[in-house]
Amino acid sequence: GIKCGIVGLPNVGKSTLFNALTQAGIDAENFPFCTIEPNTGVVPVPDPRQDKIAAIVNPKRTIPTTMEFVDIAGLVAGASKGEGLGNQFLANIRETDAIAHVVRCFDNENVIHVANKVDPASDIEVINTELALSDLDAVEKQLHKLHKKAKGQDKEAIRLVALLEKIKPTLDQAMPVRSVDLSDDEKKELHQFHLLTTKPTLYIANVNEDGFEDNPYLDKVREIAAAENAEVVVICNKLESEIAELEDDEKIEFLSDLGMDEPGLNKVIRASYKLLGLQTFFTAGVQEVRAWTVKVGATAPNAAGVIHTDFEKGFIRAETVAYNDFIEFNGESGAKDAGKWRLEGKEYIVKDGDVMHFRFNV
Ligand code: GDP
Repeated sequence: GIKCGIVGLPNVGKSTLFNALTQAGIDAENFPFCTIEPNTGVVPVPDPRQDKIAAIVNPKRTIPTTMEFVDIAGLVAGASKGEGLGNQFLANIRETDAIAHVVRCFDNENVIHVANKVDPASDIEVINTELALSDLDAVEKQLHKLHKKAKGQDKEAIRLVALLEKIKPTLDQAMPVRSVDLSDDEKKELHQFHLLTTKPTLYIANVNEDGFEDNPYLDKVREIAAAENAEVVVICNKLESEIAELEDDEKIEFLSDLGMDEPGLNKVIRASYKLLGLQTFFTAGVQEVRAWTVKVGATAPNAAGVIHTDFEKGFIRAETVAYNDFIEFNGESGAKDAGKWRLEGKEYIVKDGDVMHFRFNV
C-alpha cells in the first residue's frame, strides 16, 4: 500500500508519535487483507465530512478510510556509509511514498540528545545529508551503468545520463533532489530510481506542552521548511500519547480543557494523507456510510476498483454528487431534484469528497 515513513534522529519522539497514532488506530487483526509489519500502523483518517453525510443518511454504521504509517528505526550520522542500522534504515525509507521528518523542538534534561544539544537545524541537516549521500551513491552507480549504454547510442540511456547529471551537483552538495527545478516528465522518469530525496516531505516539530509559541527551535524548523516549500505540523507527542490512551468521553473533556477541538494527531494524519497525494470519496447507503481513498487524478473506474475489482472490470457509470451539493441539498434525492446528481463515465476524474454509487455489469 501507499505509506508515509516517520523518520528522525534517535530520541526526538518518533516512537511516542507512532504509538499514539496506532493507539488511536485500528488493530491489524481487523484488517485480514493486508499483512502488517510490526512497525506499520493502519490509522483511520479523521474526516468531519463523513459525520455530516452520516447525519443525513442515518446509516447503521460509518467506516472511515485508513492510511499507513511506518516507524523507521533511528538514523545516526554515517548511515549512508553503513553506520548503525544505516542500510536497513535507508532501505525502509526507499519503500515509503512520503516522509514525515520528526524534529526535536523540546528541552528535557532527562532525555539525552544524540549530539548532546537540541539543535533542529543541525538535526535536520544530519538526516538530509544521509539521504542525499545515499541518493548520490545510487546515482553514481546508475551513471556507471548508463555511460556504457550511452556510448552505444542508446537514446534512452543518453537521456537518462543527462537527467542524472543534472541532479548530481545538488546531491554533491548534500541537498535534496526535491530542490532541483525539474519538469513533470523529468520527475516521472526519475521515479524508476526510487531516490529518497525525491519523496514528498513534511516536518513534524515535536514541542513541549508550552512550546507552541515563543519557541526558537520551532522558528528554526519553520524557516528551513519554508525554504524547501515543505509543510510543518507542530505537535506535542507526549501529550498526544496521553490523549490517545483516554476513553472517548474523557478525551473530549480533556481536549476542551486544553482548548483543543481535536487531537493534534489529526493534523499529522491529514497532512500526511495530503502529502501522499491521496483524497477521499464516499459511498453513502443506509447500511453504511464509508470513506475510501484514491490518488488525486484517479478516474471513476479506479475508484470503483478500490471497492471491488469486479466494480472496475464491469464499470458502466458512476452516479455522483459533489460533497457540498450532497450537504446543501440534504442528500441524494435533494441533489437530484436540484439537478446536482450526475452520471459520470469512464473518463471522469474523481474529486475530493465526491459521493458515488457505481453501476456495473457482473
Ligand atoms: P525516538 O527515539 O525518536 O523514537 O524517541 P521516543 O519517542 O522514544 O522519545 C524519547 C524520549 O523523549 C521519551 O522518553 C519520550 O517520553 C520523550 N519525549 C517525546 N516527546 C516529548 C515531548 O514532546 N516533550 C518531552 N518533554 N519529552 C518528550
